[in-house]
Amino acid sequence: MDVIVIGGGIAGVATAYHLRAAGHRVCVVERHATVAQGATYGHGGTLLPTPLDVWFGPTFMASRQNAKNGVVNRSGFSGPARQFVRQLAELQEPNAFGHQYGLLRPLVELSRDTIAGMEARSGLEFEQTSGLLYLVRSHEEWEQLRPALGLLRHYEVPHHELTPEQCASFEHSVRTEPEFAGGVLFDQERTGNSPLFTKLIKQTLDMEGGVQFMLGREVSGIRLEGQRASVELTSRPDAGSRSREVDVIHADCVVVAAGYGSLTLLERLGLRLPLYPLRLHTLVAPIAHEECAPHVAIVDAVKRIAISRMNHRLRIAGGAVLQNAKDIDKPLGEAVTEEALALLGQATHDWIPGAARISAALPWEGVRLLSPDGLPVIGNALHPRLFVNAGHGPAGWGLACGSGKLIADLISGTTPEVPDDTLAALRAERFR
Ligand SMILES: Cc1cc2nc3c(=O)[nH]c(=O)nc-3n(C[C@H](O)[C@H](O)[C@H](O)COP(=O)(O)OP(=O)(O)OC[C@H]3O[C@@H](n4cnc5c(N)ncnc54)[C@H](O)[C@@H]3O)c2cc1C
Repeated sequence: MDVIVIGGGIAGVATAYHLRAAGHRVCVVERHATVAQGATYGHGGTLLPTPLDVWFGPTFMASRQNAKNGVVNRSGFSGPARQFVRQLAELQEPNAFGHQYGLLRPLVELSRDTIAGMEARSGLEFEQTSGLLYLVRSHEEWEQLRPALGLLRHYEVPHHELTPEQCASFEHSVRTEPEFAGGVLFDQERTGNSPLFTKLIKQTLDMEGGVQFMLGREVSGIRLEGQRASVELTSRPDAGSRSREVDVIHADCVVVAAGYGSLTLLERLGLRLPLYPLRLHTLVAPIAHEECAPHVAIVDAVKRIAISRMNHRLRIAGGAVLQNAKDIDKPLGEAVTEEALALLGQATHDWIPGAARISAALPWEGVRLLSPDGLPVIGNALHPRLFVNAGHGPAGWGLACGSGKLIADLISGTTPEVPDDTLAALRAERFR
């Protein structure tokens, strides 16, 4: 089949990879001049989510204070934002959390296998490192984490619960003073460079053929007619007198994997998804003192701030800002940005003092889409020729590789490698 994939982030590129592997001809349309320029660029490095870092569960905004829960509440946010927070809060209840994580889990495992296959086939080197150490400040926070720790045991996820002393002896950059409650070590989980991975996959596809990348082109609309699907492209900036003409490309199927841009494209077709855009921040800081730099990734478990080492720099990601969705394209304002970046700097200083030169760090901000039930939207939607792969929230980097495989299986008519209840829980129809 001929398939158009809208979006050149990790979700779009991984979808193209698996479609191509299944024998389809693919065209990826991306509005930027190259791939991995959206949320994929900003990633915090953690490859696959554990119950400790999915965006739902008992630790989600458990405290009302920004400095404690890691989410900056922009004052004045209204209706839809409150509704979104209320819906996610329902998953703080341990049984609801466990049920929802159980639905996500097969996608995590499919993604793990899929990434391993992609790595082995193409011998990819994307600054991958093993080991994630989640650190917990207070005993109250440790109590909040208990349902997640229960899930780790239930699903037999390899991990070690560590005392502060054990954390410090395993990871020399962590100090036992001031006091903290403890940590959870995942020695088999990994971090890696998401934009580098995405670019390497594109390079592989460029060499092997079968996937065309249409870069610097924006999709303005999708047409669904009988057994065909088409996308309309806005005119090129250099189109001159043809500037009013709309280019249309046709295919058998269209996959919307356009990150935050997916919402507008789907709304134009009459599909309104209750996904919420959340702004996040990163700092990329040079290592200040090598002897203070961590050899595994450090994650502030409750504030969800990840600090990953990539060569001679530290990538610090988090600092979520909850604001009105309609304001998401406007600048945040200096004070809010500073508050979010300060959370990142403070977490780095608290956990690994002396490791990073925060004053020389490069800031970045981007938007990622979250769903009110914590699960991404993957599968067929609205019309037999339309598929969606979006809304992966905080964990889209690795999950996108599994969700790309899922989309390729669905389009090819192959039985997907996840159970039916997971498939149903991922479909857009669940929100109807
Ligand atoms: C600060 C930050 C830290 C993160 N940390 C992690 C982490 O540690 N681990 C993890 O797993 N995940 C993390 N994530 C989430 C992860 O990065 C995202 O879930 C993932 O990158 C989403 O990929 P995507 O392809 O869906 O979206 P994107 O990367 O945003 O790609 C969508 C693409 O579609 C293009 N597009 C949009 N509209 C159109 C249009 N109309 N026409 C043509 N092109 C269009 C955009 O230009 C963009 O390139 C983080 C995200 C952020 C912002």
